[in-house]
Amino acid sequence: MSFVNVNATSLTQKPPSKKFKVVLDAGHGGKDHGKPSKVGSPEKDIALKIVLALGKELAKNKDIEVIYTRKKDVFIDLHERGRIANKAEADLFISVHCNAHTSQAYGAETYVLGLHRNATNLNVAKAENAVVFLEENYEETYAQYDLNSPESAIGLGLMQEEFLDQSVFLASLVQDNFRKKLKRKDRSVKQAGFIVLHQTVMPSVLIETGFITNTNERKYLNSQKGQLALARAIAGAVGEYKEKVFSYLTNETIADQEVIVPEVEEAQPDKIVTGVTFKVQLAASKRKLKTKPYNFKGLKEISRLKKGKVFKYYYGATSNYTEIKRKLEEAKKKGYTTAFIVSFEENNIQVPLKQVLN
Ligand SMILES: [Zn+2]
Repeated sequence: MSFVNVNATSLTQKPPSKKFKVVLDAGHGGKDHGKPSKVGSPEKDIALKIVLALGKELAKNKDIEVIYTRKKDVFIDLHERGRIANKAEADLFISVHCNAHTSQAYGAETYVLGLHRNATNLNVAKAENAVVFLEENYEETYAQYDLNSPESAIGLGLMQEEFLDQSVFLASLVQDNFRKKLKRKDRSVKQAGFIVLHQTVMPSVLIETGFITNTNERKYLNSQKGQLALARAIAGAVGEYKEKVFSYLTNETIADQEVIVPEVEEAQPDKIVTGVTFKVQLAASKRKLKTKPYNFKGLKEISRLKKGKVFKYYYGATSNYTEIKRKLEEAKKKGYTTAFIVSFEENNIQVPLKQVLN
């Protein structure tokens, strides 16, 4: 069993509000129909119906406040969607969409912001980003993005990087719920450069609930039963996230520790991943410590990275996943019970462990 980790320090910058605020963003709307469908509703209508059902589900929990970017069929700019979420100081941003493909591809996938890792992810992001061309003044608004060349990847914004762990965690819960409760095909958690996710300063995901180009899935997406089932599955994921992360974060006395939750997929033994360095994260602290064994219960091979105002301390550095798992056990025996494995690409760029192991 491996672990995905939620860094509790990231969310402690603002005092936690009493209610857990979730911004629900139904993709597209008004003149922007999203993906068209020869039969049934266009993407914008399906997304809205799922979002409204999801909002109802979430509102059953008195601790949750739901904020919508749109509740009816209106056009809203991408940056305005982000502004709504940021102004509300929301705890989560969830954008709901439907996928499309020329094949009979089917299944659900949930995105967090990141580099386009492959052509397929790029195409999904391109399709969702294309909406900006319907906005007035889009050249000014999105000057920072090279819209004519989506290949110039929209990288992680500084703020989204802070929230990447939480975003991946929520995305995994959404996919888990789709797979386990609804038996949907799990197309997994992915990364790509969605402009709408680039605007928000909180954990954010974009859910492609299914393909309106697949004959069976289109029926499901158009049915009230399917929309409600998807809404309930997403609500379930939000509930789990809230319980594991938010309730934890509100307890400031332990806010500098890490929440550890089981990850979905088992790692293969003797796994060596070239181009990736695994490390065991021992601690995160505002204190700058020397990376000497006496500061780390006798452990050698300690490295330190500064992330924002926090120093992170790591044990070991190897591309051998089996070895790093052994080192994790060693660190735990030494008393670092909340230690966990992280993965880096070159230049100390952290990448989600799950993605690397896939
Ligand atoms: Zn869409």
